[in-house]
Amino acid sequence: MGISKAFGSTQALCDVNLTMEPGVIFGFVGANGAGKTTLMRIIMGVLLSDSGEILINDHSASQDNRRRIGYMPSERGLYAKMKIFEQLVFFAEIRGMEKSEARKSAKEWIERLDIARYAEKNLETLSTGNQQRVQLAVALIAKPRALILDEPFSGLDPIAVKTMSDVIREQAREGLPILFSSHQLELIDQVSTKVAIISHGKIIATGTPTELRKVAKAPETIEIPTPLATIFGDLIADDETYHDKVVSEFERRGKNA
Ligand code: ATP
Repeated sequence: MGISKAFGSTQALCDVNLTMEPGVIFGFVGANGAGKTTLMRIIMGVLLSDSGEILINDHSASQDNRRRIGYMPSERGLYAKMKIFEQLVFFAEIRGMEKSEARKSAKEWIERLDIARYAEKNLETLSTGNQQRVQLAVALIAKPRALILDEPFSGLDPIAVKTMSDVIREQAREGLPILFSSHQLELIDQVSTKVAIISHGKIIATGTPTELRKVAKAPETIEIPTPLATIFGDLIADDETYHDKVVSEFERRGKNA
């Protein structure tokens, strides 16, 4: 049984199944309100599902093994008036690191993410993009076993986008399963090794970018690879009737692929 969750009369998730695997970067795409954040919160135990269960290595997820997941929440949630270095050490310690190890890891990540010059500044004095780098450092600080990143690219400049993509790829190469959401379709296309498309609380397609291209490609466009951005663009179109048409066409082609 997949994960289901309703808020009053809104069915935010409906029997959602998603398997994260070591080294796989799962790009999570869907329109505003499709259910991405809700699923990520349920994975992290911030929200309870109505039915369905989160399994980690085939066992029911406990708060203890959820602590080993690096999480970048959409609401961000750092301390505005705490210094960056101090903040990183604090988050590493509450995830079980010794002080000296926490300080070493904090030093490595602020250097890697190019925020060392802000180490002694309060978070609130940093720009949005630099706060986002701090948020990524917090997700990575305590040697996580998996990463859940809710819109990690939003508000980043091109240099920070490159750093974020490099770090995500690096972590996947080290064997971490990763799930990230984004509305930037080119980034989903470039960074993901697998993509899940969610629409109105249901996963309507999953696969590698190549598999999804094959499914979505119209016979007359066989010579020209369809950019994934075009497919996703159609799926997240504002026009609901059009959106529903694209979804059912996508499902039909999926079944016939
Ligand atoms: P976005 O791309 O805008 O971040 P999303 O795919 O992350 O969207 P969710 O935030 O998961 O979407 O929302 C899914 C649905 O659940 C929406 O209809 C939203 O209004 C509803 N919802 C989410 N959280 C709550 C809540 N705490 N109370 C009531 N409804 C909620």
